[in-house]
Amino acid sequence: MPNVHIFDHPLILHKLTILRDKRTGHKEFRELTEELAMLMAFEATRTHPVREIAVETPLARTTGWSIAGQEIALVPILRAGLVMESAIGRLIPTARVGHIGIYREHDTLQPVSYFVKLPPDIAEREAMILDPMLATGGSTVAAIDTLKQHGCRSMTVMAIISAPEGIRKVHGAHPEVDIYTAAVDSHLNEKGYILPGLGDAGDRLFGTK
Ligand code: URA
Repeated sequence: MPNVHIFDHPLILHKLTILRDKRTGHKEFRELTEELAMLMAFEATRTHPVREIAVETPLARTTGWSIAGQEIALVPILRAGLVMESAIGRLIPTARVGHIGIYREHDTLQPVSYFVKLPPDIAEREAMILDPMLATGGSTVAAIDTLKQHGCRSMTVMAIISAPEGIRKVHGAHPEVDIYTAAVDSHLNEKGYILPGLGDAGDRLFGTK
């Protein structure tokens, strides 16, 4: 699958397995989601450019490195993406944050956009779209469409678990967008849930069910 990056780091695999477990309570579920988001961002930014800078230690002057290249915007899709944003924001504190609110209409499973607030310089930034579950792909395609309408040209998608149907949908519409994921699961069920998946990420994160 071109432009799909599946993480195989042992820590990611281990934490993802606990996340999937139905016995995992919402406090631990949230902590694991944060840890997975950080580990995924760590891997996904591996090729980000750096520039050489001078640094003075208490003992000597030496050469160090500073993050360079395009600045990052974290764009969580509400609401489950918020927890990924708070975690990755600790790793990349200079990132601006844009919010996109999209929900899936219950019967048609079609995405409905109800909130968009992006940094004013989003056209110059690399947007990291955050949603733990890439299921039908409808919300992600809608988020990418919205970002492109605002002039953003550089985007990546970070999803903890993806369905093959969602990946196909995103790459059918936007083949150039890189998708970073910890797992590509089997398929969607008739309600649009990923199997085996982990259930409803939002409900498990926020304890709403
Ligand atoms: N959203 C979720 O939270 N879980 C799924 O399996 C699919 C979409």
